This record gives sequence, C-alpha cells and structure tokens, in this order.
Amino acid sequence: MAQTYLFLTLSQVLTAICLDFRGYEPQTMLFCEVLRALDAPGVKYRREPGKAGLWLSYGNQGKLRWLEGEALVDFMCRQIDNANLDPEHLAAICRMIFQTPCRVDRHPDTGQPGIVVQTDMAAFQCRQCGHCCRRLDYRDGMTQADLERLKKMGRNDILAWVRTTRTVRGDITHRIWVIPGTNEFAPSCPFLKRGGCPHQWICSIHDVRPDICRNYPVSRKHALMTGCPGFDIHTPGQPAPSGNPPNK
Ligand code: SF4
Ligand code: SF4
Repeated sequence: MAQTYLFLTLSQVLTAICLDFRGYEPQTMLFCEVLRALDAPGVKYRREPGKAGLWLSYGNQGKLRWLEGEALVDFMCRQIDNANLDPEHLAAICRMIFQTPCRVDRHPDTGQPGIVVQTDMAAFQCRQCGHCCRRLDYRDGMTQADLERLKKMGRNDILAWVRTTRTVRGDITHRIWVIPGTNEFAPSCPFLKRGGCPHQWICSIHDVRPDICRNYPVSRKHALMTGCPGFDIHTPGQPAPSGNPPNK
C-alpha cells in the first residue's frame, strides 16, 4: 500500500521545500503567499502577472529588482532558512507549499522533532491514461539499483533499451529508452502498449518497471503539477501542459 504519511526532520523539511520550489518552478503566486506568511522585515515583493519571476527588494536595497529561475528559488530557500521558524509556523508553511495536511510531531523511534506530511496517496488510483509514460521526462531515470535488478533477472530485452553514458559533469547515467544500437531516444517507451479500452495504456513490464515509474507520483501535488489524473483532478487523455515536460 502507498505510504500516506511522511515524517521529515526539521532540516529534511527545508530540503523538501527547496526541492518542491526547484521541481515545479515557477510558482510565483505561492512564493508571494510564503513571503506574506514569513513577514520578513525589509522584504518587499511584487508579482508581474504572466511572468515567471518577482520584483524584490531586501536588506539595504531600496529599489525592487527582478529575480527569476534559480536566483529566485535560492532567494526563497534562504528566506525560509533564515526565518528560523518554530515548528508550528513551519508546519503552516508546509501546508501552503505541499498543499496537504502537515502537523508537528516527534519521530516514534528517535523522538526527533519534525513534521508529518500527509502524501494523500491512499486516494490515488492509476487511470492508465499513459500520460506519465508518454509526456513526462524520465530519460535519466534508471538507477544503478534498477540496472542490477534487471541484470540479475536476465531481462536483456529491457536492458537493450538502456544506454549507460557519462554526463558533461562526468557522472554515470543510465538513459532510457534508447533505440538499440543507436544514440537516439525512442519516440516513446517501447514497453507502453495500448489497452483494450479507448485512452487506456498498459505497461507491459509493470512488475519490473524502473523505480522512477513505480514511485510516480509521490504526492497529490506531484500529480497535480505534472498532469496525472490519478486523484481525479483531470480527465484521462487530456493533453500535457505545453513547454518542456516536467520530470516524472
Ligand atoms: S499519469 Fe497518473 S493516472 Fe495516468 S498512467 Fe500515469 S500514474 Fe496512471
Ligand atoms: S516502463 Fe512502463 S511505466 Fe515506465 S515509462 Fe514504460 S510503460 Fe511507462
């Protein structure tokens, strides 16, 4: 059964918030709500509707200046970190960001203080719409553990579509799904098949699929932000959002 609650220590909460800001940017309306809730002295902000950034002034700066992308995300993460929020206030900020119930608690084994985040995954049901397999970006999603597991199972039919290579930074990555004998990504996952009903898609390697597929989505917000209808928030078969595909 899907995990419906997640315990995060206070420092893990900050990491999760920054991951959320990075994963789903730009969330400028949310950023304004968070800044309002933080009520940081000397911080002024203004949205420009339709634009992916904020006008901000902080510290000794008098004039508002435009921040977007990584710089804006870094600014938001710093604001939350510097605010030294008490756990109750941090839980309220989490509710705003993760769009799900969050409460202060202690870890049942270690007694460490933290926040319990409700992932709401018990309410999730895959509609087999194929959106995540056809539209989201999971090209670098196969892990070393997936690879070892598939090797042990002798699944050369799957491994034939995996290409191990190095990124420009020198890290090893296992790319999926690459047409065997080429450097070309397949136009879609070769293991995705049409189901018997209209708009139904089926994973033909469901039991052994990579973890990135198995773990998608991790929460209601993840589903909402990446176009998954598994919480009945969209109609199956709805086109994906335009622009670069979000990550699976
Ligand atoms: S997008 Fe969601 S509902 Fe559709 S196939 Fe993927 S997990 Fe299932
Ligand atoms: S392996 Fe299965 S779940 Fe993953 S992208 Fe392909 S069809 Fe979808």
